[in-house]
Amino acid sequence: MAEYKYNKNVWNKYLQNRNILDDFADKYKTFLNNSKTERLAASEIEKALIKDGFKKISDVKLINVGDKLYAVNKNKNVIAFIIGKKMFNNLRILCSHIDSPRLDLKQNPIYEDGDVVLLDTHYYGGVKKYQWTAIPLALVGVVCKKNGEVVNINIGLDKKDPIFGVNDLLIHLSSTQMEKPLSKAIDGEKLDITFASIPLSNEKDSAIEKHVIKILEEKYGISKEDFTSAEIEAVPAFEARDFGIDRSMIASYGHDDRCCAFSSLEAFLNISAPLEDTLCAIFVDKEEIGSEGATSAQSYFVENTICRLIDLYLKKNKQQGDIFYNLRICLENSIMLSSDVTAADDPLFKEVSSKNNMARLGYGPCFNKYTGHKGKFGANDANPEYIAFLRNKLDKKDIYYQSNELGCVDIGGGGTIAYIFANYNMNVIDAGIPVFNMHAPMEVISKADLYETYLLYRTFLLD
Ligand code: MN
Ligand code: MN
Repeated sequence: MAEYKYNKNVWNKYLQNRNILDDFADKYKTFLNNSKTERLAASEIEKALIKDGFKKISDVKLINVGDKLYAVNKNKNVIAFIIGKKMFNNLRILCSHIDSPRLDLKQNPIYEDGDVVLLDTHYYGGVKKYQWTAIPLALVGVVCKKNGEVVNINIGLDKKDPIFGVNDLLIHLSSTQMEKPLSKAIDGEKLDITFASIPLSNEKDSAIEKHVIKILEEKYGISKEDFTSAEIEAVPAFEARDFGIDRSMIASYGHDDRCCAFSSLEAFLNISAPLEDTLCAIFVDKEEIGSEGATSAQSYFVENTICRLIDLYLKKNKQQGDIFYNLRICLENSIMLSSDVTAADDPLFKEVSSKNNMARLGYGPCFNKYTGHKGKFGANDANPEYIAFLRNKLDKKDIYYQSNELGCVDIGGGGTIAYIFANYNMNVIDAGIPVFNMHAPMEVISKADLYETYLLYRTFLLD
């Protein structure tokens, strides 16, 4: 009988060959540094898919077993398929999200106040506002001009670039601020970015702002009004680094959820077709603000894309059939891992830990049967029959894993995309990597968990 791999420290498995974990982590760090926004992540994912032989769905006329296909939705959301012999009877789906909390520039961001120009922001996702002051930030995104031109903005990631940041009050004058609760200490409207300080010579009014506008015109060909049709994100400027004296961990911005996106992507590459079941990987946007909108998990993009494929399949076989009926049955028969992070049990904050039910750092991918809050509200409560089916797969492959929940009952909660796909009546469970400091500008994960999660996703797809 295979040894039971549940609730064991993964490092014990790699004592002789930890280089596997370090190499995988190095590749991941590169991915992270190139994927600071959902757009950049989508672009990195597309590049990797093309390199692995994937073709754009819009370019194919017919569909065959073994085809590797993908589509990108509005530059922020990717779906990929490896067509199996059973075509669209059922899918094995990995779904992760590629957006992360950050500060977004408002549509009229530039203003001069005091002796500087600032950029007005609106934070995106659940952030502890005080964590975003006095840290190096980069500005990354696009400015879309009326003539159709898209100007890529990427300032602060290259070491030669300037960086930006949000001021915090000096401790010397903070006696009133220090009395406030953490949630009130930094006001959302005060999360503005200091941008420039040199006035344009011979100008009396708004001289610094005029200088900024001149720089933007000359360097980027954009006007103040062009920010109306822009998406620019202020993200932590520091690179992903090894963390800990034993280099066992990785510190970075955006582990949630790019660690699961990366391990899903890696699991999806280098697969030699044909297989029985059709495989699917989905990378969604907007998870951190409730999965609403065109590029989110709730978008019809996934359904529409599968409809397109079913249509191609029916055409090839000169079959008449109801595309929507086929779509519904296909999704109902599908299985999914909602690949998202969970909270790692933190010894400094034991008061929020659910005893014996916390994800442990280094103990492998964690299944969350449910997330939600206060009485499981909003949760996808995964079916035990499905969990047993997955446990059996993992134990056969000696993959370490754990099964826990986010934290103490009634103390908070969280959500993922699991419930959205479960509404198709498919079996879905959250399965991902434990994280320290989730949603902070610097999050921490274990290299062992990253690699073991990749193995979990690979087995889910192939075995
Ligand atoms: Mn997440
Ligand atoms: Mn999150």
